[in-house]
Amino acid sequence: MAKIRIYQLAKELEMSNEELLKILDDMGVAYKSHASTLEEDTAQAVKELIGEQRVAEAARRAEEARKAIPPRPPVVVIMGHVDHGKTSLLDYLRKSRIAEKEAGGITQHVGAFEVKTEGGTVVFIDTPGHEAFTTIRQRGAKVADIAVIVIAATEGVMPQTKEAIAHAKASGAKIIYAANKMDLPGADINRVYQDLMQMGIVPVAYGGDAEVLPISAKTGQGIPELLETILLIAELEDLRADPKAEAQGVILESRMDKQAGALVSLLVQQGTLRVGDYVVAGEHWGKIRAMSDADGKRRSEAGPGSAVQVLGFSELPVAGETFFWVPDQVAAKEITEERIEERRARESQAEAGRTRNLADLMR
Ligand code: GDP
Ligand code: MG
Repeated sequence: MAKIRIYQLAKELEMSNEELLKILDDMGVAYKSHASTLEEDTAQAVKELIGEQRVAEAARRAEEARKAIPPRPPVVVIMGHVDHGKTSLLDYLRKSRIAEKEAGGITQHVGAFEVKTEGGTVVFIDTPGHEAFTTIRQRGAKVADIAVIVIAATEGVMPQTKEAIAHAKASGAKIIYAANKMDLPGADINRVYQDLMQMGIVPVAYGGDAEVLPISAKTGQGIPELLETILLIAELEDLRADPKAEAQGVILESRMDKQAGALVSLLVQQGTLRVGDYVVAGEHWGKIRAMSDADGKRRSEAGPGSAVQVLGFSELPVAGETFFWVPDQVAAKEITEERIEERRARESQAEAGRTRNLADLMR
């Protein structure tokens, strides 16, 4: 870059002469007027400074925009080896939640439930086998922010514990280890520590950063601390979701009911889903006719972190599939038809590939 006049540089940087002159003053650069010529290295320094200022300004705006989005509750999945206490822990959490409410309140299985504590709300996924969790991961989406890996302190880490840890890590979820069955005489948290360390996971008790909490899903010992730790991690993660965005989320479960038709449980991750909305999930679409929550209450809308059961799909979307809002039936039909066609095209291509390979082999 050669010498340049101040007004030329101002134009190049898309700023007024006055703005640029002010910057030159701040930098201690002498000039007569906006027509004065700047040395090449001065012009270069001005450009760099303005570039940095603009980057900082953009970052500040982005941060402001992010902060304007309200916080959302963490979504937690419980995983672990068979018989180590996943169901018992969910039952305990669900019961403590029912106890909070007036007696006689009905509950409905919608694939997830909320636990409200003084420190905040936690959403627990309780779809059997957590198929949604694995399917969703295969599809590249994410449902749980935090995975609680339950390890019976009477047994320690078992093969499925390792699998669960691998799944959780791959999904990008934060992990908390719950050493369960601490009420039993044979329980030994040191066994859990040792087993985890063998896997290169270092508990906080040993100076690492893996939270390993002693609990009993039977007596409830340690469960308040578990909830606290979940909320603490959630706070650090600074989880937010915009309730005003177009609704999107994850299908947790779906089944056909003889009377009601397709019953679909879903988790809203962003935006607000309303009765009357059209949504697409994979190759299927629905117009939401009715929604109800885990308390069995009818809902007209569901915001981020809400799990609801919806009526309005004609066919069953696959659990683990993501869903998203579309404006109308025309969009819903076109998108699903496109997806079906794309899949068929892929299938016939794969088919053609197979025949060719077989032909090659027999050559
Ligand atoms: P899952 O296969 O991981 O879902 O395990 P379950 O929740 O079905 O628990 C397996 C068995 O362990 C059941 O008989 C539970 O009653 C028992 N169990 C689970 N958690 C505890 C606990 O904290 N203490 C005791 N004593 N038993 C437990
Ligand atoms: Mg179970």
